[in-house]
Amino acid sequence: MTPKIKPLVAGNWKMNGLHASLHELEAMTKGYNTELRGFLDMLVCVPATLIHSAAKRTSNTSVMIGGQDCHINASGAHTGDCSAEMIADCGANAVIVGHSERRTDHGESSTTVKAKAGAGLRVGLLTIVCIGETEAERKSGRTLEVLSEQLGQSMPDSATADTVAVAYEPVWAIGTGLTPAVEDVHEAHGFMRKQLTERFGNEGSRMRLLYGGSVKPENATELMAIENVDGALVGGASLKAADFLGICNAYRNIKNT
Ligand code: PEP
Repeated sequence: MTPKIKPLVAGNWKMNGLHASLHELEAMTKGYNTELRGFLDMLVCVPATLIHSAAKRTSNTSVMIGGQDCHINASGAHTGDCSAEMIADCGANAVIVGHSERRTDHGESSTTVKAKAGAGLRVGLLTIVCIGETEAERKSGRTLEVLSEQLGQSMPDSATADTVAVAYEPVWAIGTGLTPAVEDVHEAHGFMRKQLTERFGNEGSRMRLLYGGSVKPENATELMAIENVDGALVGGASLKAADFLGICNAYRNIKNT
């Protein structure tokens, strides 16, 4: 029997947001507390500059705040970087590692991503490991091969269902308005579930598998209802409370149908 998994809806603000934007976070928190707490966990990954203020504003709630990347080391001569220790020290509960924009813009390999995930776990942050194929890889029929490689090489051996979530984000679907067909998401998530269960046993069968790439209130119910989709990683639509809460509400619709 498939274990019961509490969904996780995570927002990724990327390099967007100033202190003035935190009113959106407050509206998200309000919506979460009044209507959604029983259905899902909510996480908002803000820029490093906002983690401390965001964590303060959500401190009396169960909304989690996360960073979008971390360095492998705890401290040292790495100008411009933030360590997992620093992110946790600002009040964050989580961190994203291996986002395709990091893999592309900063040349991060899966080996680096694995080490970053290890850093997140070292300080007790819920760690979201991102993987996903490019358009060229999909067109050449290599999607599952790429997912297998990235998953195998990016996940730390100590990952558990409570400490790590995996986000499947087809690179070509990020910020483009395009999404894969339901059957393709179904296939990718089923494949990841099998790989994780083979490697991590019971923990792998309970690990949350998020879908990411152009999730919006309009397509959330269809995407979130797919087997082995245990939540979403949301970019653009996480900047506005109305859109983000609209996506979260998909879980209420799913429960009520
Ligand atoms: C993302 O950056 O993780 C993402 C999924 O972006 P968007 O929702 O804007 O496609």
